[in-house]
Amino acid sequence: MSQPIILKTTVELIQWRKTIKDKSVGFVPTMGALHEGHVSLLKKSRSENDINVLSIFVNPTQFNQAQDLDKYPRTWDEDLKLATGAGTDAIFFPTFEQMYPDNYTYSVHENDFSLMLCGASRAGHFQGVLTIVLKLLNLVQPNRVYMGEKDHQQLQLIKKMVSALFLPTEIVGCPTIRNSSGLALSSRNSRLNEDERNRSSLIYKTITTAANTAEAKAVLENAGFKIDYLVDVENRRYVAAFVGDVRLIDNVEL
Ligand code: AMP
Repeated sequence: MSQPIILKTTVELIQWRKTIKDKSVGFVPTMGALHEGHVSLLKKSRSENDINVLSIFVNPTQFNQAQDLDKYPRTWDEDLKLATGAGTDAIFFPTFEQMYPDNYTYSVHENDFSLMLCGASRAGHFQGVLTIVLKLLNLVQPNRVYMGEKDHQQLQLIKKMVSALFLPTEIVGCPTIRNSSGLALSSRNSRLNEDERNRSSLIYKTITTAANTAEAKAVLENAGFKIDYLVDVENRRYVAAFVGDVRLIDNVEL
């Protein structure tokens, strides 16, 4: 596989985009610390488009806690290897100044679903997510964007934003990739010690087997998890739970 081109500024990206204007472009936006979940998105994008673009940007506006932002894993060398192996043509790897020349004075608000679940406990989270995704879509101008069902609320909100703002792109939802014991792969898993990682597979097991949310909550609380939320919304069960100080999310169709 040939090395992807690395684009660090919006000007470089816009110039490069002009050189591929007749090709179909698939796009995978991420915050890096890539794992097999991200790789599955890149491979799907690779198989359905002429050109495959990855972005890596740890977006500060979607973190409501400075500590969580500081602790977010950054693994550029490994990311480059995985991205190259998955057939990535270009990696957009901008700085905050590149993405926020307005210093975040402009943003996207959604006044309904974004206030529930993760939005209820992380004030401003989805405002940051929607704003950065809109900026990235305007820059990359992809035909298709590949996003994980692991972040199902985020996926739904972005699909609805694309429709509400008439953006000319298709959002493709992709299945959650899990380890052999069921734990959803997440960049945050690298912050778990071995015992915490083993125990965390109980999250998926419990939300798939419990008869109702009360039972699932009780099982996880008894096992030492601190539950942020565990609710059923429209035929899907969503959970956010703390293992130590690491917050993990998951969801399953009921
Ligand atoms: P992140 O880097 O965590 O912001 O995630 C970037 C993209 O990868 C999002 O669309 C996530 O939903 C997706 N993603 C993260 N983890 C997984 C996973 N385990 N399986 C599938 N997609 C994932």
